[in-house]
Amino acid sequence: MRVISYSHNGTDGLGVMVDDKGFVALAGAAAELPATMMGLLNVDDWQGKVAAAVDGKAADLSIGDVRLLPLISDTPVLWCIGVNYKEHQDETGRGAQEEPMFFIRTNHGLIGAYDPIIRPNCSDMLDFEGELAVIIGKGGRHISKEKAHEHIAGYSIFNDGTIRDWQRHTIQFCPGKNFEGTGPFGPWLMTPDEFGDPYAQELTTRLNGEQVQHTSIADMDHKIDKQIEYLSTVHTLRPGDVISTGTPGGVGSRREPPLWMKPGDTVSVEITGLGIIENKIEQES
Ligand code: MG
Repeated sequence: MRVISYSHNGTDGLGVMVDDKGFVALAGAAAELPATMMGLLNVDDWQGKVAAAVDGKAADLSIGDVRLLPLISDTPVLWCIGVNYKEHQDETGRGAQEEPMFFIRTNHGLIGAYDPIIRPNCSDMLDFEGELAVIIGKGGRHISKEKAHEHIAGYSIFNDGTIRDWQRHTIQFCPGKNFEGTGPFGPWLMTPDEFGDPYAQELTTRLNGEQVQHTSIADMDHKIDKQIEYLSTVHTLRPGDVISTGTPGGVGSRREPPLWMKPGDTVSVEITGLGIIENKIEQES
């Protein structure tokens, strides 16, 4: 199942994809269910209820007719792991991390799957980081690696768009990772039964159609189960928490010369079996 967050004619809602582009609007098919992803993820057996509601229904709208919103615009916590693929560990000179290296992004930087990414006026060092995002379904604390899969509601795509000089002002990453309009998140939540084994899939980032990052998800260093175990040791994970699982090698800042995204460019992140997000770059007005 693929669930989208969208806006159409001034109303926000959820939709369930029924083919490549078409979706059933949940507000019509199941008015009793919440109209936001956070609301839905907090409903017991939401997947069963949604499946029953849309069963046999034809598409109401196409994603081309609507604006896709950030998949979860009010996630309790968006954790991001740094340097979690070997090529990226090598190019950054940081090496493998014994423990996963996490930082937090706030909701303020999130945008929809096809919204423009905004290059701020304070810097031209706008970089891409294609990543697989994991969305927590069932909450919990002290979740073991063995039980981690029971807590995953689904998967999505995140571009951990970064203002590199602001990332490096100090040893704290957070400012450069939290600029407004730099975090495309979507296009949908795909449930684990539909996505299958994440490690059988591949991630590709393209800038203006040219491949700039490519990896097998299997090359991830600290795997998803370890990340869930680690973070749930810190605090109780809640439905709607998001973990972005790291970017592979090829980021623009580590190229010679550096490759920064600039207004007019288009960046996309594709994960096989999952989908694609694509964003034009615009200058802050
Ligand atoms: Mg990242």
